[in-house]
Amino acid sequence: MLEGLMMDYQLTLDKIIEHAARLHPNKKVITKLPDGSFHELTYGEMAKRIRRLSSALESVLGVKPGDRVGTFAWNNYQHLELYFAIPGAAAVCHTLNIRLNGEQLSYIIDHAEDKVVFVDGTLLPLYEQLAAGSTSVQAHVLFNVDRDVQTSLDNVYFYEDLIEQGDENYQWACTDERMASAMCYTSGTTGNPKGALYSHRSTFLHTFGVMQANAMGLGETDTILAVVPQFHAMSWGLPYAGVYSGANLLMPGQFLQAEPLAEMTEKYRVTVAAGVPTIWNGLYHELKNNPRDISTIRALVVGGSAMPRALTRAYETELNVDVLHAWGMTEMSPIGTVSALMSHHADLSTEEKWDVKATQGYPVSGVDMRICDEEGNELPWDGEQMGELQVRGFWVSKQYYKLDKSADHFTADGWFRTGDVATMSPDGYMRITDRTKDLVKSGGEWISSVDLENALIGHEDVMEAAVFAVPDARWAERPWAAITPKDGASVDMDALNQYLTAEGFAKFWLPDNYVSVDELPKTSTGKLDKKVLRKMHADGAW
Ligand code: ADP
Repeated sequence: MLEGLMMDYQLTLDKIIEHAARLHPNKKVITKLPDGSFHELTYGEMAKRIRRLSSALESVLGVKPGDRVGTFAWNNYQHLELYFAIPGAAAVCHTLNIRLNGEQLSYIIDHAEDKVVFVDGTLLPLYEQLAAGSTSVQAHVLFNVDRDVQTSLDNVYFYEDLIEQGDENYQWACTDERMASAMCYTSGTTGNPKGALYSHRSTFLHTFGVMQANAMGLGETDTILAVVPQFHAMSWGLPYAGVYSGANLLMPGQFLQAEPLAEMTEKYRVTVAAGVPTIWNGLYHELKNNPRDISTIRALVVGGSAMPRALTRAYETELNVDVLHAWGMTEMSPIGTVSALMSHHADLSTEEKWDVKATQGYPVSGVDMRICDEEGNELPWDGEQMGELQVRGFWVSKQYYKLDKSADHFTADGWFRTGDVATMSPDGYMRITDRTKDLVKSGGEWISSVDLENALIGHEDVMEAAVFAVPDARWAERPWAAITPKDGASVDMDALNQYLTAEGFAKFWLPDNYVSVDELPKTSTGKLDKKVLRKMHADGAW
């Protein structure tokens, strides 16, 4: 082999903050503080604080390379600093999901063996309560808190003290791109949560991936509102990609309600905003009641669950905001696909364009995808056949932390099994039709619960719908639908099945039964939890 003669310049995250400090020293992270005021910090200043913090992690807290350091915080400048300072000291930034229950949280802290945890003062009582069962943590660092705070935690430090004690000329300890930089556990709807362990290299390449024009296309002129929490799926990579591109980053703190989000967006003329569909649904209704101009947004990035086509349409026609549907997973750092239109869509009608945008989109450069049948045979990209979606790429997990590489999650030929079931169109647009564990298989045929749900929520009596599999002697499984009706409405099986038939669904897809519920069960990350519905059925709830 003739080796190329190019530098092995390491893909380490210190380069992101150093670049921003040099080239964009006056660009800012803007945080809505707990008291509601806005705090501004330039990247020039932030870089100094991060070096100090990295140094204090070593010198004051005794953090060693490879140690796991937890964060329990909202999106704010301190959390952003930690995203750089912990990996900068060659340690692993472990973002803890504040929406887990106590058992799960203690489990992941101890499984990761977090040595230190940084706690946002606004979440201190919650952390004290939830993490009480964990045993690995040796020190806690508090921020957004008064010095005379009462706490049951042992060995407490204050964030600003660490920064004061640290060395501004710190030499970064992250010298090898293969070092672990961060970790995040999946919510674990089945079994214990599992940890994705990112490297500097994978995170760096993901950062490029997010920034590229065919993905979010981030640039120095952007102001990015990161609604997606830093404690879930690394805030979709925006903390790194935003800083590297020299954009301003707007951090909402705990103010994730529609009203403050609308206010911030207008005030700071946000150009890119990222969050889950529920957030944007709330914002849309808020703006109907209290109009504000949010048309500066050029990309409303939506993922985590499917963006309803009707909501995309409402944003584009009524609010003049372009929606960018995206799909990803914690195990994928997380970005996998985005659904932007391509030049060959130019002649489509607006309705057809929304059909394309309702799909999860094409793989961004850096991610390979395939769909496979149950025997593992690859299926064609014909937009029809549904198969398990498998991925590989520069920022995809190859194994879970401290778990054996099981065939349930990784194929022998090196692909990650996403657990999503999808079709691929000939031009490469992926459409999720289900999760493997939520599939309904009736008489050997797959029925897409997601397609049925999407259709059902279009009915005037239906607020939310979840279609789940019920065991059946003749067909193995049959679909049932749990419905939360709109105010004053009731669930009428015949009417709903007639409606689905009119929408073009085959007879064998129609749910065998409809049950009315006050609220659908959801996971800690807001996804429908159909396991609970199946269990309720098995326990004879209906
Ligand atoms: P968790 O498992 O902790 O809830 P993840 O963000 O890792 O968090 O969840 C990834 C899963 O979320 C995907 O496998 C997919 O099922 C679902 N998902 C993410 N984005 C979308 C989307 N745009 N449309 C439909 N489902 C999505």
